[in-house]
Amino acid sequence: MTTPLVTTLPQQIFRFAPSPSGHLHLGHAYSALFSWMQARKQGAQFILRIEDIDTTRCRKEFTEAIYKDLSWLGLKWPESPRIQSEHMDEYHKALTKLHSQNLLYPCFCTRKEIQNEVQQSGRAPHGPDEIIYPGTCRNLSLAQREKRITQGDSYALRLDMAQACNLAGELYWQDVRRGKIKATPEIFGDVVLARKDIHTSYHLSVTVDDALQNISCITRGTDLYEATHIHRLLQALLKLPVPIWHHHDLIHDEEGNRLAKRHNALAIRELRDQGQSPEDIKRMVGIIDQG
Ligand code: GLU
Repeated sequence: MTTPLVTTLPQQIFRFAPSPSGHLHLGHAYSALFSWMQARKQGAQFILRIEDIDTTRCRKEFTEAIYKDLSWLGLKWPESPRIQSEHMDEYHKALTKLHSQNLLYPCFCTRKEIQNEVQQSGRAPHGPDEIIYPGTCRNLSLAQREKRITQGDSYALRLDMAQACNLAGELYWQDVRRGKIKATPEIFGDVVLARKDIHTSYHLSVTVDDALQNISCITRGTDLYEATHIHRLLQALLKLPVPIWHHHDLIHDEEGNRLAKRHNALAIRELRDQGQSPEDIKRMVGIIDQG
């Protein structure tokens, strides 16, 4: 048998995955253009995904505005972007897989209860996001859990981090700018993978979707750098393919404030209404597009 001379390489796919919880601002424009240009440089495909699982904050009108702003900037993506809220069954399947490995437990605590518990213990260890969960509900017996579920108490699902790390063993990930990184998801403690109100979480749905959509390089801001430790662990537990990551810097205004925190005047649509062009926006965020 002869070996074929030409083998097809797997398609490289990049993505921009905004949450429609407001209008896109210059920071988003930078992130979208960054991903778009990296994809183009590497002959890769660029896709858009709408991360709207947080139904308390996301709105359809913001999704429509995202399409409009990105098209105006000159970006193109395949039709019918994946809308996360339409795929809850897939996140549920992933939770079932983790549950079957005994890695999840129901947590009935409210924010206030967690704060009180932490205060009483006199220790308040912080992870990258917030206070590390003290593990209160991890220690409930099966009977106690069942009783509370039967009585209708609402609960989140947390990952038993120690068990999960134990099972996954040592993990690494590749960052385009920083090189090979050892994953240290334990810095987060027992993270929530399914929120009480929305039955999934950013960490879970982003990991599932990046795999389902065959993303080869995840581009996003350094504000999400630490989250990658968790995503790498979830990939290992769910046996998902491992992409590479390219975390880009965040852009700041002249006073050094992060643009994400600035008022609405820097929303792309406001700038468009003021007469700025897509080229002006690229200049403002320091993107040099050579066509
Ligand atoms: N949806 C997230 C956001 O808008 C970004 C997710 C990601 O790029 O991983 O902040």
